Amino acid sequence: MHMKPFFFILMLLSYLASAAQSPIPTYGAEPVKIGVIDFPTKAQALARWQSLTVVLKQAMPERDFVVLALSYSELDQVVAARQLDFVLTNAEHYVLLRNRNGLSSPLATLDSDGTGQSLTVFGGVIFGRAGQADINSLSDIRGKSVAAVTESQGAAYQMRAYELSRVGIRLPQDVNLITGLLHDQIVETVLAGHADVGFVRSGVLEGMVREGKLDTKKLKIINRQDFPDFPFQVSTRLYPEWPFAAMPHIDENLARHVVAVLFELDENKAATRAMGIHGFVVPADYSSVEQVLRELRMPPFDVAPPFTLQDVWTRYRWQLMVSLLASGVILLLGISVLLIYRKLVVKQSLLLQQQQNIQEHEEFRSRVFDSSVLPIVVMDAVTFQFVDCNSAAVYIYSFPSREEVLGKTPLDVSAPVQYDGTPSAEKARFYIEKALAGEVVVFEWLHQRPDGELWDAEVQLMRFHVGQCQFLQFTLQDISESKRAQEKILNLASFPKLHPSPVIELDSAGKVSYLNPAAERLFPELSALGPSHPLLHCSGEQIEALRQGKEHAEAVNEVEIGEATYELHISYIQDVNLIRIYVMDITKRKRDEEKIYHLATTDSLTGIANRREFTAILMREMDQAKRYGSPMVLAMYDLDYFKRVNDTFGHDVGDHVLQAVTRLVKQNIRSSDIVARWGGEEFMVLMPQSDIVSARNTAEKLRLAIAGHHFDMVNKLTVSFGVTAFEPQDDLKSLLKRVDEALYQAKKQGRNRVEILTAEVASH
Ligand code: GH3
Ligand code: MG
Ligand code: MG
Repeated sequence: MHMKPFFFILMLLSYLASAAQSPIPTYGAEPVKIGVIDFPTKAQALARWQSLTVVLKQAMPERDFVVLALSYSELDQVVAARQLDFVLTNAEHYVLLRNRNGLSSPLATLDSDGTGQSLTVFGGVIFGRAGQADINSLSDIRGKSVAAVTESQGAAYQMRAYELSRVGIRLPQDVNLITGLLHDQIVETVLAGHADVGFVRSGVLEGMVREGKLDTKKLKIINRQDFPDFPFQVSTRLYPEWPFAAMPHIDENLARHVVAVLFELDENKAATRAMGIHGFVVPADYSSVEQVLRELRMPPFDVAPPFTLQDVWTRYRWQLMVSLLASGVILLLGISVLLIYRKLVVKQSLLLQQQQNIQEHEEFRSRVFDSSVLPIVVMDAVTFQFVDCNSAAVYIYSFPSREEVLGKTPLDVSAPVQYDGTPSAEKARFYIEKALAGEVVVFEWLHQRPDGELWDAEVQLMRFHVGQCQFLQFTLQDISESKRAQEKILNLASFPKLHPSPVIELDSAGKVSYLNPAAERLFPELSALGPSHPLLHCSGEQIEALRQGKEHAEAVNEVEIGEATYELHISYIQDVNLIRIYVMDITKRKRDEEKIYHLATTDSLTGIANRREFTAILMREMDQAKRYGSPMVLAMYDLDYFKRVNDTFGHDVGDHVLQAVTRLVKQNIRSSDIVARWGGEEFMVLMPQSDIVSARNTAEKLRLAIAGHHFDMVNKLTVSFGVTAFEPQDDLKSLLKRVDEALYQAKKQGRNRVEILTAEVASH
């Protein structure tokens, strides 16, 4: 018996343990409550699902089962209060309850009785009347009256609303909604014409047909979908049938038992017929329903859940990274395009500026360089080739032309340069080396003129750089006369008698008191040198200034007498109180200077003003015309098809034609008109004091003269004229531009004609 108490205790313990694991049948416990949606009415729902409690009771006699037919809001409340055990409602309501009240996943899905087939899915039907021509697709529903079950409750309504939202129609605001109707009533309302469109659940129409309540020919299904295994007309996607779900608190054993009964229901034909269903099947996927509700923003998704940055990052990480990267790339590209564009703009304006600078520089160079009477030569400091020289240098060295010496060395051009002492090459090297070392070297060099005459030049030699290149610039000054004068003044001041050029002395009263031999040779009769003689015409003021030492030791006057030009060096000799005048004949130098000036301002082929000279004249005349308000006209002409002349007869004949045309023009214009060679075979005629009418006549006359002229070899030659009047608001540029445009017009209109362009027309 010792064993007995121990064994008994052991048995008791194991019994208690097993009792704790499997529930002891709870006879007389609370009945199991199944909440169902009160569809289509409370009474019908109760009657229908009563059969389910009977079947359940048969399977689990120890438990009691009750069915509660509840409205949506009632179901919401009892689920929230955990006063139910199971729920059977439509899919979207289930989603709502699950999300709001933590209903478990469905245990089973209703298999509704279709036409004897198993049907676990359904859809929505959207229909109108057969005769409605204006409603053919979903988008036609906008603004129409729509009959449906209650807005927030009908699954059919929501599925259709979802379908419409996909074509941009929002319910209820985009249609005229008629709600609160049962499915049969919806069909009747549409057929009666009280609504344009109806929303019903799939199968409703077929049910009515079966009952003989409807002729489908009267209806038109909108957005008809075709699902091979689905037996009903449908306008939407298909969604799962009603789910049967358990409350989270219920006992797992009970749930398992109930599900087992549900799955075996299809065997029990009496029961399923009573419930009007086929049975229950394994639970369907309700996420498609959830998706619809989410997109429609229907409960429980009518409030946007708090969406944190973290959510954004987790959900759209890749899209975000890709779009950030893309935006970054686009931004970078945009910025680089902008930078490139800005650089281009800056570069372009720099280029324009440079071009203008070059033009201005060229103009400047030719003004300063070419019109200088001092010969200037520029040589490459390494190769000793001529790089540039001005007209004065061309003349003084008797170069054939500037163009012909450029690129040559002094050895290639036999310039008659000589030095009057030690071997010139040695001397030259000495000066050049000094200059290359950076010194500005000034030295004298004896030169020989083309006519053989010797002259003293003061040469200034300096080195300069442009970029990487090094140049030597020689500037020459004829100092023969002043050198001689200087020598004479310095060395022979007290011996005017020995002076080779004329010296005249005046006493304090201004009367001639002495003539040296050279002066006597110039004035064999003293009477010829009366007080009014120009050589004695030094002003009283000038002499007074010299006397008081206010002025330099000597004053220099230039006097022209007949063909000759004299330079007078006048000095006051204090000791003896007299005025001494050295007279120097500078006629030759003057003539040389004039020649140089002529070379610099005229065109060598035609002998008329060159472009540079004409520009200077034009600017001067523009000033005059502006100041006095006088009219002035500018004409420009260009030979027609002149290239052909050159091509056919050669350049020389072309040159002769240019000369002949110039002669013709000069013969047919007034002496006050100025003709100039603008370049190539383009010429300008400036007509001061001329209005546009007479200028046109002149141009016509010139045109006819040329067209009617018989040139040697060349039979026929014509010219085109552009003519424009100077306007007070014109500057050089605008005037030249307009005359050029006028000439262009004349060429365009067929040549051999005169075209006039007014400032007014040109500005349009
Ligand atoms: P268009 O009617 O359009 O003016 O035809 P074109 O053939 O005259 O054309 P364009 O004015 O362009 O031709 C200018 C020609 O003039 C080209 C050049 O050979 C020639 N030319 C320019 N200067 C001289 C020159 O000093 N002597 C010679 N012989 N020909 C020159
Ligand atoms: Mg031409
Ligand atoms: Mg031309």
